[in-house]
Amino acid sequence: MTGTRAWHLKARPTGLPDMSHFELKPLDLPALGEGEVRVENRWLSVDPYMRGRMNDVKSYAPPFELGAPMQGGAVGTIVESHSPDLAVGDTVFHMMGWREQAVGPASAFTRAPAMGVEDFQWLGNLGLTGATAYFGLLRVAEAKPGDVVFVSAAAGAVGSAVVQIAKAKGMTVIGSAGGAEKCAWVRELGADAVVDYKAQPVVKGLMEALKAIGADGIDVYFDNVGGDHLDAAFAAARNGARFAICGMIEGYNAGPPPAFRYIMRVIAARITIKGFLYFDYLSEMPDFYRDMGGWIASGAVKSRETVRDGIEAAPQAFLDLFAGANVGKMLVRL
Ligand code: NDP
Repeated sequence: MTGTRAWHLKARPTGLPDMSHFELKPLDLPALGEGEVRVENRWLSVDPYMRGRMNDVKSYAPPFELGAPMQGGAVGTIVESHSPDLAVGDTVFHMMGWREQAVGPASAFTRAPAMGVEDFQWLGNLGLTGATAYFGLLRVAEAKPGDVVFVSAAAGAVGSAVVQIAKAKGMTVIGSAGGAEKCAWVRELGADAVVDYKAQPVVKGLMEALKAIGADGIDVYFDNVGGDHLDAAFAAARNGARFAICGMIEGYNAGPPPAFRYIMRVIAARITIKGFLYFDYLSEMPDFYRDMGGWIASGAVKSRETVRDGIEAAPQAFLDLFAGANVGKMLVRL
């Protein structure tokens, strides 16, 4: 047995979680069996969907078990290997985060392709959030050059990738984010207009943004937030608009919104609304690596990270996502 530390779920929250719902405890890891590897984690991902896993409800990802170690995306280095498939020193990404070390079959770990990028990119633009942006925009919403795209949480990990992919593909982009500093960064990423939803109602900001770029509506809405943002998108939709519903973070702690004022426009504007999960598109990952790798290499897609240090920082980093404390991808460095 080897000792490591892992965050465990201590209690199930109602509404916004706090530190009392998490506990950092020692975890005994077994000696390696045949085909197994030991990984020293170096980067942990914290993601909004993990809030859903803190509830005891059936969903696409199983709930975290009370009193058991939590899981999440991570990048690490193989430090011991009993498998011919992975060697000591290999960089891998996997789902046994929220802990310092992980042990498991080699098949649970993916060797990072040799693309000359920083390791944390496998949790960001070349990982779950970049793939979500790519498939959500191009496959789910079927966005094409010339479309007017509206994206919420545009200064976050998924949203900032959506803005840049849309620009790389010749679309016009309106991004919304909370606060002037975030909006300025979304502009820097290439957005044609921005909506600071903390300074004014989203629907008003979106209508003004459309006027500023001389467009009469949106063709695509990439939803990361739900609530008032989704309602504003209903109000602004052009005929035949497509909505990719990626996330609804506004409701993760508060529950669903009470009502939509503009939802009946779904009929008149013939809006297509489609929810999706990035892993529905795993068979198309080679396309994603080719395109995203090219955009990163050419500088068309850039990233920004908000980094917290030490395993102790993981739950607060996660909680801070709901306060908008991150610009770009929120990461924990071990
Ligand atoms: P982000 O990096 O975008 O971080 C979350 C951001 O959401 C915050 O920075 C904040 O930005 C915004 N936010 C938080 N609370 C609220 C609120 N109440 N109202 C409005 N905005 C809020 O996270 P990710 O990029 O990792 O995830 C973005 C979305 O994508 C989430 O909804 C997530 O669940 C979803 N997702 C879905 C996947 C799928 O397969 N469908 C896969 C991965 C993510 P601001 O300061 O601008 O408000």
